[in-house]
Amino acid sequence: MRAQIKLVRLFGVELGLHYSWIIIAVLIVFSLGDHFHIIHPEWTSGLVWGISILTGVLFFVFLFAHELSHALVAKASGLPIHKITLFALGGMAQIEKEPTRASTEFWMGIVGPITSFVIGVVLLGIAVAGGWTWRSEPPTPALAILVWLGYINILLAVFNMIPGFPLDGGRVLRAIIWGITKSADSSTRIAARIGQLVGLGFILYGIFEFFQQQAFGGLWLAFIGWFLMNAAGASYMQLKASNALEGVKVGQVMSQECQPVAAHISLQDFVDNFLLRTGRRCFIVADNGRPLGLITPAEVRQVPRDDWNVTSVQAAMKPLERIHSVTPEMPVMNAMEIMAREDVNQLPVVSDGHLAGVLSRAHVLELLRAKSELGQNR
Ligand SMILES: [Zn+2]
Repeated sequence: MRAQIKLVRLFGVELGLHYSWIIIAVLIVFSLGDHFHIIHPEWTSGLVWGISILTGVLFFVFLFAHELSHALVAKASGLPIHKITLFALGGMAQIEKEPTRASTEFWMGIVGPITSFVIGVVLLGIAVAGGWTWRSEPPTPALAILVWLGYINILLAVFNMIPGFPLDGGRVLRAIIWGITKSADSSTRIAARIGQLVGLGFILYGIFEFFQQQAFGGLWLAFIGWFLMNAAGASYMQLKASNALEGVKVGQVMSQECQPVAAHISLQDFVDNFLLRTGRRCFIVADNGRPLGLITPAEVRQVPRDDWNVTSVQAAMKPLERIHSVTPEMPVMNAMEIMAREDVNQLPVVSDGHLAGVLSRAHVLELLRAKSELGQNR
């Protein structure tokens, strides 16, 4: 998940938002407005919307605090982390390496729910000190904000402790199984399976609720369940891939026979005689053997079809200096991370200032497929 709106840097970690988060922010502010209006119909709508927006903003601040706690434990354990992104269904601390010890995984997972729980208890404590009595409707706007935020943080702690990978509870469960079995691989498999079962449970219960009570809350539960099932499967695949690619360098996977095309030929010529004829998708644009850039179907699409005859390959290509390049010695996992970040399918591999080859996602997928056919995990 890439952050599309960058906010601030804290402790060397970049906090950002994904666009999907905006939908949820609006939903939360509206449901807060509804909630405050119901408990205090006498409050003016200006007041209700004002505190709804304030509460919504504070909610996301506490969500960042939760994610930041994961990030700080990861950092303290020597795992690099640069970014935290909030998206529709919560936060995501992008930890670039998986922990190598069960105890690290355990603390990294459990610190988030502990943080949310402590925040919730402290907020409710302040509300009580400020005159709120347990289970009554908070009488003032300030107390209403504190009580809602207090409850929601405790709820967040409980939800995150659901033992479904990749939720925090899933990480904690995986760490415990890992500690017992001493096998990172089988603990991942078991935790992912349990995550999928938990997700399925949510879906079935949500659908049951929907038909039983005609409650839309049921559909929401089913949706969360569907998300959990997908996420559990996806994180298992990702972990398996990162295990299989451990120790593999770019130089071992890259293709060296990237076909050059002359810089001056037209796009039409390129499409007819190179792209459609060879079935390859990536070409090096060269001038007298000197590489100038890369051209792929993505660059061709940028030019209107009518102009293909009058546009040279050089004019349409992506120049080398605008492409992130990698070295043959770089671990493939890092290169994949760069491809994901830059949203590209190929990276030029440069060694001592000259082009040594091209690494593409397809090469990496082929390697993974070959390894899984051989039944090898690493
Ligand atoms: Zn968390």
